[in-house]
Amino acid sequence: MVTKSEASPCVVVLGTGGTIAGQAASAGDNLGYVAGQIGVEALVQQLALPDGLTLKSEQVAQLDSKDMDFSVWQALAARCSHWLARDDVAGVVITHGTDTLEETAFFLQSVLAPTKPVVLTCAMRPATALAPDGPQNLRDAIAVAATPGPHGVMAVCAGTVHGAFDVQKVHTYRLDAFASGDAGPLGYVEEGAVRWLRTGPDNDREAARRLACVLRTDVADWPRVEILTSHAGAGGRLVEALLQERRSGVAQAVQGLVLAATGNGSLHQGLESAALTAQEEGVAVVRATRCCEGRILATPQAVLRDAGALTPVKARIALMLALLLAMPGA
Ligand code: ASP
Repeated sequence: MVTKSEASPCVVVLGTGGTIAGQAASAGDNLGYVAGQIGVEALVQQLALPDGLTLKSEQVAQLDSKDMDFSVWQALAARCSHWLARDDVAGVVITHGTDTLEETAFFLQSVLAPTKPVVLTCAMRPATALAPDGPQNLRDAIAVAATPGPHGVMAVCAGTVHGAFDVQKVHTYRLDAFASGDAGPLGYVEEGAVRWLRTGPDNDREAARRLACVLRTDVADWPRVEILTSHAGAGGRLVEALLQERRSGVAQAVQGLVLAATGNGSLHQGLESAALTAQEEGVAVVRATRCCEGRILATPQAVLRDAGALTPVKARIALMLALLLAMPGA
């Protein structure tokens, strides 16, 4: 725990690893580093924070976010909900790798729908770089979390605030690696002050049920949802392999399929016909567009439902949570 001052507001920083906590052998190396090496307390201690801000930090995980898994999500949901319930806490910041940041943000928004800010932040360069971007991103994220008014799960990177529903990693190495597509960002952080462009998500009455469900269900029992991409030459063999596994009665057989569809949700005919068989056999099937902008507009002839504006990775989380809620006893 790190405390800058005993005065309000209090911001809690939860560490999960990522490049922001990464270390390389030399300061000139922005690529050959190991993510998730430096503890969150050390990350917070190096910041020159404004007076009148109380900070607490807690290490929830220490990993490269390419390896993110359900158990870390469950722990994050529990810790966020614990801290957000406290009157003295203004908001929560989560340090996270960039690779799956948008998935964690969407998951947390779906189960918390917080009325306080929960702000994920990250870095594109390791902490040991000549000019690391992590400290400024973390400072900005803390400023957003301490600002009264905004709510919901957000991501802050390169001075831009993105909403959990819209944020996507769009670049492999630029420091400004995230975008919000058609929706645009929620705002900007300008020298510690936040300039809002639009408001965050509406209330979500289902979030409390989802949270209760993810906290009490062993992660080994969270429904398995796979993503398959439609592309030139795509066929139904992967779907068929998943169905064979399911028919054989193995544990953790597939329960849901997200089809990363072309354009306005169209599928290669081979993949579509196998997906229809899967649907007939009880697998929940959803189409999500693989386009990086836009939403699927409904067509009367569609027989497989669509995920609207959700990307395939977010549609997978939405479907997994819907299946979790539909489990007997949920
Ligand atoms: N592989 C790293 C991670 O997602 C990349 C990053 O943080 O930028 O943890």
